[in-house]
Amino acid sequence: MCGIVGFSSRSTSAVRPLVSGLSRLEYRGYDSAGVALESTAGVRVFKQTGKVAELDKLLKRELPEEERAKYTLGIAHTRWATHGLPTVANAHPHLADGGRLALVHNGIIENYAALRDGLERRGVEFVSQTDTEVLAHLVAAFDRGDFLAAVCEALKRVEGTYGIAAISARHPGEMVVARKGSPLVIGIGEKDTVVASDVSAIVAYTRQVIYLKDGDVAMVTPDGVDIHSLDNSPVSREVQEVDWDIGAIEKGGYDHFMLKEIFEQPDALANTIRGRLDPGGGTAILSGLNLSPRELAAVRRLVIVGCGTSLHAGMVGKCLFESLADVPASPEQAAEFRYSNPIVGPDDWVIALSQSGETADTLAAVRESIRKGALVSALCNVVGSTIAREAGRGVYLHAGPEISVASTKAFTAQVTALLMTALKLGRTRRLSREAGDRLVREITGLPDLVRRVLAQSEAIARIAEKYASASDMFFIGRGILYPVALEGALKVKEVAYVHAEGYQAAELKHGPIALLSEKTPVVALLADIPGKEKTLGNVQECRARNAPVIAVATEGDETAAATDAMVVPKTCPELAPIVSAVALQLFAYHVARLRGCEIDQPRNLAKSVTVE
Ligand code: GLU
Repeated sequence: MCGIVGFSSRSTSAVRPLVSGLSRLEYRGYDSAGVALESTAGVRVFKQTGKVAELDKLLKRELPEEERAKYTLGIAHTRWATHGLPTVANAHPHLADGGRLALVHNGIIENYAALRDGLERRGVEFVSQTDTEVLAHLVAAFDRGDFLAAVCEALKRVEGTYGIAAISARHPGEMVVARKGSPLVIGIGEKDTVVASDVSAIVAYTRQVIYLKDGDVAMVTPDGVDIHSLDNSPVSREVQEVDWDIGAIEKGGYDHFMLKEIFEQPDALANTIRGRLDPGGGTAILSGLNLSPRELAAVRRLVIVGCGTSLHAGMVGKCLFESLADVPASPEQAAEFRYSNPIVGPDDWVIALSQSGETADTLAAVRESIRKGALVSALCNVVGSTIAREAGRGVYLHAGPEISVASTKAFTAQVTALLMTALKLGRTRRLSREAGDRLVREITGLPDLVRRVLAQSEAIARIAEKYASASDMFFIGRGILYPVALEGALKVKEVAYVHAEGYQAAELKHGPIALLSEKTPVVALLADIPGKEKTLGNVQECRARNAPVIAVATEGDETAAATDAMVVPKTCPELAPIVSAVALQLFAYHVARLRGCEIDQPRNLAKSVTVE
């Protein structure tokens, strides 16, 4: 998920290129960094928590300039923790083979626990809590003289996603890299070969690059690259010329982080789901919750606390818990919750939602709930964040770093994590295995559904063009789509500075309808959920007041009553909020772009709200 850099040269020291490569990846957000350097004397590792500048300081202290020349091969990493806190021990590179082998990894090894057990039984000692460390030991275990073959053997046993780079003192001058589900690019320079998880770390050296494909493993030396498949047969990949400027590259070719993150959602959600569904049992496996079936069965009520977009995700969660698990759930704005007299106790399960895991009000709500003896868990994106640590149990979103201030992928990942939690709770109650199985299948297909919404981006941009100059907008939805109406309105406010309000579809006629005219577009959430017919009635009411209506409707079900339609694929009611929200994210983005707004850093807003 975060950054990898590798450097292999005949004559140039690897230290500077590695550190400046890491700095180029800094925009991705990370929590610790490290390098491993190889010389004839073996491998040396330097790791530090915090920014790359801290690692640089450590290197300045411990590796004087005159010593640097001998290290012409090295690998480096910025970590965005998924397994284990952001500590020096958990930072990459990870070592094996008595410190001779060093490896860096982006991604998640799903079956790391089983692999770790097996290695421990054979006497391997682990020094970190990461999933990555098993990879280092596994490669060492298969090393019988051919480094590339050892990496192939290890990777054949791994489930999950990876981009890796490894060096070993047993194989001087060799670096092996591989990818599956996590990007890796090799830059072919005149004298040096540079590897990175993102081309932005490469362009300072060369514009000739090879993009590895999933399943590729490559031997990298100063002379170039030799690419193989996992069964160790040679494959050939085209060398391409990069012609982007650096700014564009850091955003992966997108104009803004917000758009990049909207488009990352299929992968982000695949990561949220990965390893957490049990098709046979029709349930979800959420080991981080650390709750026994008995504890789950004892839950009488859920309270979901959050702020902003997280609060909206919590409101979707309420519908999910009530419909799938028959447990009453109340979403609460975290600041209101903490300053009220929250009535929670041992029968209540408080779920705290925060992308950053640092939101001050949500943290205070967590502390208050713990004090009152409630069961508390957290749904955070940032591993080791304060809320995650203090709650002590929860579900990490694994959505990858979110840079844009306006949250997009964290919202859909939160809803997905809440859905899996509701499924698990539901299975301890009335939800049958068949119903659970059906949901497991639907959730498995979620990344593809989201991909199909993303394919509508241009069509949504054309709709945005018609309405970008509006100064007021309404968003309406009912049931599980009501919070999505709130979220759609919030996105437009945040990034496009357009006054927008979200309402329950039926509530409009109790007052706000007085404001409708041909100048107030109404975005109506009309995906297939119970009660859709009623919302169609509300759409007619808006049309009768001359308000243009933009429907977010299921494919083939676009209503004639609407002026325009954003189309989402057909899905079950539980996933309708996610596909609809993605369409609204694109709508808000395009409106903001057309209005010339500073999309990634809207005025007055901060990414992580650590004040009350
Ligand atoms: N899963 C690994 C860890 O937690 C790698 C995380 C990353 O991609 O930075 O250490």
